[in-house]
Amino acid sequence: MQEARIIDGVALAAQIDEEVTAVVSQLEEKSGKRPHLAVVVVGEDPASQIYVANKVRRCKKVGIDSKELRYSADLSEAELLSIIDDLSNDDDIHGILLQLPLPKGMDTHKVIHAINPAKDVDGFHPLNFGRFMAGLDHALAPCTPQGCLRLLRMVVDDFEGKDATVIGCSNIVGKPMAELLLQQGCSVTSVHHLSRDIEGKCRAADIIVAAAGSPHLVKADWVKPGAVIIDVGINRLRDLGKGSGIVGDVDFDEVKKVASAITPVPGGVGPQTISYLLVNTVRAFNNQLDIVPDEKLGL
Ligand code: NAD
Repeated sequence: MQEARIIDGVALAAQIDEEVTAVVSQLEEKSGKRPHLAVVVVGEDPASQIYVANKVRRCKKVGIDSKELRYSADLSEAELLSIIDDLSNDDDIHGILLQLPLPKGMDTHKVIHAINPAKDVDGFHPLNFGRFMAGLDHALAPCTPQGCLRLLRMVVDDFEGKDATVIGCSNIVGKPMAELLLQQGCSVTSVHHLSRDIEGKCRAADIIVAAAGSPHLVKADWVKPGAVIIDVGINRLRDLGKGSGIVGDVDFDEVKKVASAITPVPGGVGPQTISYLLVNTVRAFNNQLDIVPDEKLGL
């Protein structure tokens, strides 16, 4: 059997950057304004510092204005709520990204709830999550699953009636991913760490999305020949005592011999989370300025 097509997430991210750049320039012509994202970081979590630098770099590349607000871990929750409130009411800010995790002792749900839902570019506010789960138009949906769907569209022409298994049920990835696939017309099975016979449920699937955070969980004999595999997992080899770099939730070298298409780690899903942060920032801008989105560009 032929080896799987490797779905190139780096090329897709470059294409989305071009699309967003074109839309931002059109919007500036139309409204005289550019989308403006505020990125709030509390504490010194090293991974967060890298993620934020990447987000700011990609914003700059596509013409989205951004500002970073950095605070030390001893910021109080009340002070953070007041900062979020100011940004929520600032007409010059169209998107607010609260970098997670927050330092221990802060109530993440309470702080997310304080973000103006119209500016919640992560799609984590309960109002946006509810709107998205209800399938309403123009809802701000979580970024990573939107990126996974875009990657799937590169290799799947017709989703209707396909069987999909999503491993992991978090609010950030697994649950919204299952919902997006359901909205495309798939029959979706969601599995988690308490599920029985995960292998069997994967083997029955035309599409597998693995988002468990468990290195090389999905083996070749879990995969139906010709299935499409999206690997969301980011597992640091250093944390596993196995050197440096990252691996996904899928045993890539073996599974690529069975699947028809597969995302690599790194270079697959990873760049799309920022791609859809950019897209959501443009959507939030459009919603706030009552601009009808350019449907041709899907924005
Ligand atoms: P999470 O810890 O919040 O949720 C993990 C889910 O997987 C849970 O529902 C749990 O029950 C399930 N699970 C854990 N081990 C399992 C197992 N052995 N079998 C079946 N189910 C299992 O994690 P998350 O935030 O959803 O992230 C999942 C993975 O995706 C992590 O590796 C994370 O780093 C990665 N991630 C990547 C991106 C990206 O941009 N590529 C974005 C977000 C998350």
